[in-house]
Amino acid sequence: MFENSLVRGELIEISDAWQQVLARRTYPPAVGAMLGEMMAAAALLSANLKFDGTIIMQIHGDGPVQLLVVECDASLRLRATAKLSEGATVDEQASLQQLVNAHGEGRFAITLDPADKKPGQQAYQGIVALEGESVATVIENYMMRSEQLDTRLWLAADASVSRGLLLQKLPDNGGKTTPQDDTDVWNRTVTLASTLNTQELLGTDIMTLLQRLYWEETVRVFDPRHPSFHCGCSREKVGNMLKMLGREEIDSALDDLGKLDVSCDFCGQAYLFDAVDCRQLFALETLSDAVQLPAGRQH
Ligand SMILES: [Zn+2]
Repeated sequence: MFENSLVRGELIEISDAWQQVLARRTYPPAVGAMLGEMMAAAALLSANLKFDGTIIMQIHGDGPVQLLVVECDASLRLRATAKLSEGATVDEQASLQQLVNAHGEGRFAITLDPADKKPGQQAYQGIVALEGESVATVIENYMMRSEQLDTRLWLAADASVSRGLLLQKLPDNGGKTTPQDDTDVWNRTVTLASTLNTQELLGTDIMTLLQRLYWEETVRVFDPRHPSFHCGCSREKVGNMLKMLGREEIDSALDDLGKLDVSCDFCGQAYLFDAVDCRQLFALETLSDAVQLPAGRQH
């Protein structure tokens, strides 16, 4: 918090969790940078919105990148993955628009999935316009539209670290400001952050960064929290996904392959389903239908 002002900020640095994502798959540098920036943005937003649940950021691209997904829960546990279009080549300098919005049909969605969802309760999903040339700009627009909060972000990621800074101007609800409040803090802090270039952001740890940018401001620093990698995949979830594909689809895949070898896109964990496992998936479904049938008849 910047004292005597309505400005707050957050800094994020993800190294171990980000390297765990990169250890599982090799991405072209431009795609890796974008995924890393989304990781930093998801962690910043998760802490900023104080949302008790998982934030899911998804970009469905129409260019060389088909999909980018980042998830971050309230304990800052993250996972991320990206998928390229078949045979896609990616220029090292490719822009956000070239990567995911080549034909103007890319989609950016932010989903807030509550931790204590009641049965039938839906997660809240907002579609974000893919305007601008950076993940930061896209998120700034989202925050303005969905939260009505003036928010600025600076993000950068390379092969070793993903780092980000968020500044936010809190609304002055009916004169929260007092005469000693400094109304220029927002302009000063944003102007200083805007002098940061990508190399500086990638090369400076966040405490040094804070000191270097805002040594002239009175800043109250809170206890740090630590991001980590976590994948919540399970055999049961993969089984449910297979069930959703339908029996016909699964039977035909089994005819071709003999067994289904499904690996998690996020963590690489392999799940093997042979013909017996698959039969069991659908047998259970039939069983539960049968159990529900008498109750249904009473209506
Ligand atoms: Zn997994």
